[in-house]
Formats: sequence, C-alpha cells, structure tokens
Amino acid sequence: MVEMEFHHVAQADLKLLLRLPFLLLLYRFEKGRIYTFIGEVVVSVNPYKLLNIYGRDTIEQYKGRELYERPPHLFAIADAAYKAMKRRSKDTCIVISGESGAGKTEASKYIMQYIAAITNPSQRAEVERVKNMLLKSNCVLEAFGNAKTNRNDNSSRFGKYMDINFDFKGDPIGGHINNYLLEKSRVIVQQPGERSFHSFYQLLQGGSEQILRSLHLQKSLSSYNYIHVGAQLKCSINDAAEFKVVADAMKVIGFKPEEIQTVYKILATILHLGNLKFVVDGDTPLIENGKVVSIIAELLSTKTDMVEKALLYRTVATGRDIIDKQHTEQEASYGRDAFAKAIYERLFCWIVTRINDIIEVKNYDTTVHGKNTVIGVLDIYGFEIFDNNSFEQFCINYCNEKLQQLFIQLVLKQEQEEYQREGIPWKHIDYFNNQIIVDLVEQQHKGIIAILDDACMNVGKVTDEMFLEALNSKLGKHGHFSSRKLCASDKILEFDRDFRIRHYAGDVVFYPAYLNVTFELFFSVLLSSNPVLKNMWPEGKLSITEVTKRPLTAATLFKNSMIALVDNLASKEPYYVRCIKPNDKKSPQIFDDERCRHQVEYLGLLENVRVRRAGFAFRQTYEKFLHRYKMISEFTWPNHDLPSDKGAVKKLIERCGFQDDVAYGKTKIFIRTPRTLFTLEELRAQM
Ligand code: ATP
Ligand code: MG
Repeated sequence: MVEMEFHHVAQADLKLLLRLPFLLLLYRFEKGRIYTFIGEVVVSVNPYKLLNIYGRDTIEQYKGRELYERPPHLFAIADAAYKAMKRRSKDTCIVISGESGAGKTEASKYIMQYIAAITNPSQRAEVERVKNMLLKSNCVLEAFGNAKTNRNDNSSRFGKYMDINFDFKGDPIGGHINNYLLEKSRVIVQQPGERSFHSFYQLLQGGSEQILRSLHLQKSLSSYNYIHVGAQLKCSINDAAEFKVVADAMKVIGFKPEEIQTVYKILATILHLGNLKFVVDGDTPLIENGKVVSIIAELLSTKTDMVEKALLYRTVATGRDIIDKQHTEQEASYGRDAFAKAIYERLFCWIVTRINDIIEVKNYDTTVHGKNTVIGVLDIYGFEIFDNNSFEQFCINYCNEKLQQLFIQLVLKQEQEEYQREGIPWKHIDYFNNQIIVDLVEQQHKGIIAILDDACMNVGKVTDEMFLEALNSKLGKHGHFSSRKLCASDKILEFDRDFRIRHYAGDVVFYPAYLNVTFELFFSVLLSSNPVLKNMWPEGKLSITEVTKRPLTAATLFKNSMIALVDNLASKEPYYVRCIKPNDKKSPQIFDDERCRHQVEYLGLLENVRVRRAGFAFRQTYEKFLHRYKMISEFTWPNHDLPSDKGAVKKLIERCGFQDDVAYGKTKIFIRTPRTLFTLEELRAQM
C-alpha cells in the first residue's frame, strides 16, 4: 500500500515531498526502486548494480499501457513517447539529463531496447535490419566516444541526439545521429586515474599480431605517450573482447574492410604522433625520431617530407601569397598535438556520418505511406565542474543552461501559462529563470562567445589580457559574470586571467581566458592517396587559400548547434528522464544526502513538484475527451444533446462522481489524480 502511495508524487504526501523530495528517492532507492514519477518526468537513481527489471516480462507489462497504470519505469516513459507518436502522429523526444555517471547512457540504451522490442510484430526483415543497426551503432560510438574518467568507467565524452524514424505502422525504418563536441583534448592528455578513448586500448589489446604489425604497433600500452598516463589503469571494460565486438558491429553496420582498416591506421597514426619529439638546432626545430615520421607517412598514404613539412611549418595565406612559416619548437609540439586531436575528431565525425548514411531512411514515399514520425533521444553531458575548467567545460555547461531553459519553457512556464489561459484558479510559482545566463553566453555582440569571436578574428593582435579586458568592460556589470580584475579582493580566483560564471546549478566555475590558436596541419593528409582518408578531408578539393580562410570559431559552431538542437527539441513533444547519481563511490548501498539534495535542486525537480502539486496530472480538450469516453454515460452515448461539449463532459464526470477531482477550463478538462483516469479507462474497457 505504501508502495502504491509513493508511486506518484501527485498522490503522495506532497507537503513532505516539497521539503524533502530526496527523502522519497532515498526511500525508494533503498527498496531497489530506482524510478519515480514527478508528473510526466521520470526520475532515475543509478542503482550501481544489475537489476532484473528490463527483461521481456517487464516489457510486456508496460507495452501499450497508460503512463500511470504501472509503477514508474523508463519503459513507461518510452511507451508514452511511442504511443503519442503512433496514436497522434506526434514527433516526440526523450531528453535524458543528469551529471556524469548518473546513468544517462544506460537509460538511453534501455529505451532503445524497449522500442525495438515492442515494434515490428510482423517481423518484417527490413525493419529488423534497421533495428539491429540502430542498436549496434551504440557500441561503435561508445568505443570511439567514451572513456574511463574518475566519475564513470564508461563516460560519454560527446553529446548525442538520435532520431528514430517510424513508418505509418509505427515500425522503425531508419534513424539519424547528431553528435556534439567531442572532448578531443583527451586524445593527448588525461587526468590521473583517467584514460583516453576506449578505441586505443581496444586496438592495442585486441588487435591481432598481424594487424598490430601492419600498423607498426606493439602491444605494450605504456610505449605510447598519449595514453601513457592511463595505460596501467584497471578498467571494468574488457578491451580485448570489446575490440572484436566493435569490429563485428562495424561490419554488420556496413563499414567496408578498407574503411575499418583506415580507422585502425588513424588510431595508430595518433599513437605514433604522440611519440614524436622535436629538438632545436639553432633556431630551427628538427624531428628527433625520423623513423616515426616515415611510419606516419606510410599509415596516411602520403610522403614523408609532406608529413615533416606539416609538422615543422605552418602554411599561411596572406592576400594572394602563400608562405610557409617555420614553427618554433613549442609551436611544433603544439601543432603535433593539435593535429592528433583534429584527426581523432575527424575520425569520430566521419564514423557518425557513415552510420547515418547507412541508417538514414531511404525511399520513403509519404504519399503512399503517410507521415513518417520521429522519436528523438537525447543523451548529453551534464554539468561539469573541475578544478581546471577549459573551453570544453565552458561549452558543456552552456549546453546545460540551454537545456534547463528548454525545461523551464516546456515544463514550468508552459504549464503555468496553460492554467492562466484556461482560466483555472492558480497561484503563480516562482522559479529561477536562467535565461539571463544563456544570454550572458550567447547574446549577439555582447555575449561571451561574440567577444571571443572578435578576439579570435584578430589572433596575433589580441592578447589573452585584451580578451579579458573586453569581457570585463562589456560584461562587468552582469550579475553572473566576474573576474579577478573586477574584484581584486577575490582571492579565490587563482590567475589574473580567469573569469567566472555563476551557473544556474549554483556553482561558480572558472574558465581561463585563453585564446585558442589552431594550427592547420591537414595538408599532408590532403595529399593522401588513401580514398577513405580523402573522403574524410573533403577540403582536399579546395585551394589552399580557401582552406586557410578563417572558418567559424569552434565556440560559434557549438552555439549554432545548440540553438538548432533546442529548436528541434522544442518542436517535439518532450518527455524527460532526470538521472541522479546517489554517491561518488559507484556504490549500490550509499545514498549521499548532500549530493542528492543538490542534484534534486538543480535538476529543477523541486519546482517541478510544486507546479505539479498545484497542477493536474492530465488534461484534454472537451472534444477529444468525449470522443474517448462518451460511451461511459447514457447522457453522451452515442451523442449528446447538450449545448456544448463542455456541458456534456461535466455531465459525464458528475455521473461518474469525479466532480471533486477535476477543473473545467475554457477548452479543456483538467484531472488532478491519475486514479481518476484509470477508472475512466476501466469503465471504458467494460463497455
Ligand atoms: P556520462 O555523463 O559520464 O556519460 P552517464 O550518465 O551516461 O555518464 P552511464 O554510463 O549511463 O552514466 O552509467 C554509469 C554506470 O552506472 C554504468 O556503466 C553502470 O555500471 C551503472 N548504471 C547506470 N544505470 C544503470 C542501471 N539502470 N542499472 C544498473 N547499472 C546502471
Ligand atoms: Mg554517458
């Protein structure tokens, strides 16, 4: 009985929950019940142990049921999103959020498995093939985009949004993946206790002797500088076994043998690049280990002197002239690292593109088959606050501000506005609107990204100090921005150059005001004779002047991709999964109060409970409501003779005795508790 009460926040002791929603989560966590509903948001607490709650029998219990009919579960949300898509032809999306290690990626996989399990009852071969590809693509993306971090042994180091397309029957016919900002700095350096991307270890541990020999690699992980730090770390992942799983998955998805071979060549190139050393002869930097250069040239199917030139010189276009400028030793090392990061990023994006080529819907004729609908699943990085935060953390945290803004817009603001619009008595609930922080970052002309862009346009003329100065003068008065220059007494800021943002999560994050100078080192690859590589660097077809033209900055590209993502999500019917990490020890036993309280707060769950408490679990237009339930009452079946649908619904509700649990808006009926809805459904089923 207690269990019943606690299933739904709307039914539980809300006064208690308002003060202590995390107590509810604790109570349920200790009972192994990791899911809880707040309205239509499912909150999930990472159990850190395998639970037997994802099997075929559980799937059957959720299939086709209404959201509140069964205990809270990811499957209930997945089913709701699927039903909305199938019954009402709505595009829907499931937004999964939470901090690193909270269980987002696992949740997204269970959701996909659920959708795969409940579709294609007639076992059409083509649909089965698509489902298999969608599921297999996860393992490939994880190999190249995930890594062991101190927070999570299988941490996603990129953001992922996947659309699954459905035909008019509700069966998956294809998909599309968007990836966001891979943490490429990990390719060259990792924090103590962390590793680089799984792909490197998998190749070295799982590649056959013959493969390794062809790549001039040896099995010993510690021979390679770029992965040296994390080489000896124990990881719960079996790299050797995974290598085979990933290779098989690539084959099944449709990667050609020469493509897979090129992928290995790029991984090997990066490992070798990390071992390149520069020495200085007078002012001129030279490469100490020339053998490595020729190996790299062989792997990239290009000439040794091209690689050498790319490493020691920078090609710049000044007006119509193209000149080769020699690097200093420091520039050469920096350039080598930039090259390694860039080719890994290219590789990753290329893998995503190839997967998309294969899974994309082809030959779907809407005039014959009707609308093709979509369920989007977003699994994207949560807030990240380290001791040293870089540009990557800046982007990740900005992304979270954007998503929080969307949550506010869709869940809090819209809900309140609907009550007002419908004339339902309503006490406004305050919440912190983080739009101000989003503006701080992305506003035109005076946002941080705009100022950064200006500075990047003038690299060489603008120093880091000048960049910070520009930030200070344009944003000094902003309540969420500060820097050491602005408040000299601020001893927390370690470096003069740091600036900080007060994020909505309540945390103050310091970012270094460094300008990123990028070295374009692609030319050696541009001239590669390997067709797969050529395909990865389509700029090979452009002239050098075009290539060296300043492209959009990384920050602006990221901003644009975030704006597009949010627009896309906003156009769909959203379902939310909010993941909570119960402790920092990966323990199935500990529920750390402080940590959980903090997450409950910044995930907006408190406000969500408040809005829900005053709100209603269900609402529908009078017309649609009648359409579904009119057979329950003799006043409305088969048709009513009342002057309006609203009057007819009132009559129906009173006939069933639910008048105390509903409110009548201008165009919609609002029902407070899910139980009423169940009963209506039951009555309908008995007819
Ligand atoms: P990141 O942001 O770092 O990618 P994440 O939120 O995606 O983190 P996951 O990789 O999904 O986190 O989960 C971390 C680990 O927690 C998993 O590898 C698994 O061991 C455990 N875990 C997460 N969800 C579940 C679950 N539902 N059941 C059992 N274990 C889980
Ligand atoms: Mg993840």
